[in-house]
Amino acid sequence: MIPFETAMQVALANVHRTGVEDVDLADAAGRVLALDVASDLDFPPFDKSSMDGFACRAQDLGQTLKVVETLPAGKMPTRAIGPGECARIMTGARVPEGADTVFMVEQSQAMADDSVRFTGTTTRSNLCRQAEDVRAGDVVLPAGTLLDPRHVAVLASVGVARPRVAARPRVAILATGDELVEPSDVPGPSQIRNSNGWQLAAQVTAAGGVPTYHGIARDEVGALGRLFRLAAATSDVVLLSGGVSMGDFDKVPDVLRDEGVRLLFDAVAMKPGKPTTFGVRDTLAVFGLPGNPVSTYVVFEVLVRPFLLAMMGHAWRPVRTVAPLARDVRRRSLDRDEWIPVVIGADGTAEAVDYHGSADFVALSRADGLTRVPAGTSFLAAGTSIQVQRLPW
Ligand code: AMP
Ligand code: MG
Repeated sequence: MIPFETAMQVALANVHRTGVEDVDLADAAGRVLALDVASDLDFPPFDKSSMDGFACRAQDLGQTLKVVETLPAGKMPTRAIGPGECARIMTGARVPEGADTVFMVEQSQAMADDSVRFTGTTTRSNLCRQAEDVRAGDVVLPAGTLLDPRHVAVLASVGVARPRVAARPRVAILATGDELVEPSDVPGPSQIRNSNGWQLAAQVTAAGGVPTYHGIARDEVGALGRLFRLAAATSDVVLLSGGVSMGDFDKVPDVLRDEGVRLLFDAVAMKPGKPTTFGVRDTLAVFGLPGNPVSTYVVFEVLVRPFLLAMMGHAWRPVRTVAPLARDVRRRSLDRDEWIPVVIGADGTAEAVDYHGSADFVALSRADGLTRVPAGTSFLAAGTSIQVQRLPW
């Protein structure tokens, strides 16, 4: 059994980066940027008004000023502002030469002969200087950025209409187990429905991969091998659920070895997820995830998600919240780190969900996050601040 951090390092050391492709801005969110993006412009690109008002010289604020032109956003000023003059100006419009101040419409009084007076007492300049945010040539988004809507706005602003992003990893999913039937079937008296296959497909999509579900393999070496070969032929990563524990019918590690996969670990000091198995064959990576639904879920979130994002060049870190525990937490399995599903209450305290272990997928579905308790810690008192990795992603 190896520590979780070691397992993570071994997996990340075997990442093969995907290729790149160019996508429309409409499809960019959720993708990982493949190149540094530099701005082609200064921001703001010109001195611009941040108010609707009148642009003038600060030293003239005490005078009645003649309005020499009107400047909506998008219009180029036709003349410089001289002494005793101003231009009526809208938010976002270019400030004319000579003006260094804009006073607000709300602090103005119109006078006869298209003149205006400043009625306020103090004013800020109310203009945004060219390049005060960004200079042309500055890198505004580094390679590896996981693009969200804010980044889409940056790309649009700097004229990148087809950003270059990492290709999505192709991830094959196969469920194993003689007891499994598909969700549309009614299980027989000793059967259960396959939830992991579908859950994993959804997790892969949420992590930016392209899942292909290959169905259920029976716990038999020939059937498993056949389905594995099919899955491996067209994918970068294969995820198997089930069949990695110590039972007589847990055939996955043997089948993987027979298929030429070099197993790099098959036991991790984590709960849930101890029998998690990882191996490689050329550029193919294979994860054997324990079959219990909570184990499958958690191991994907803490190990496979960072792996898939690393394939796209993104160093993923979970969003964490710190919250005080509402109640004591006691635990066994002190040889392993444990990920415990918690609910965050309206008062901001965290409470371990009432949870019957790694088969209790309904309890997991109510959790707001996972807290990781290190090996050796048997007790956490109510009130202790804990870190919670937020779910879902
Ligand atoms: P295994 O890791 O194959 O020993 O499976 C551990 C437990 O998880 C058993 O109770 C299985 O019935 C259950 N299980 C395995 N695969 C799935 C699946 N695809 N969906 C739901 N439960 C599963
Ligand atoms: Mg099984």
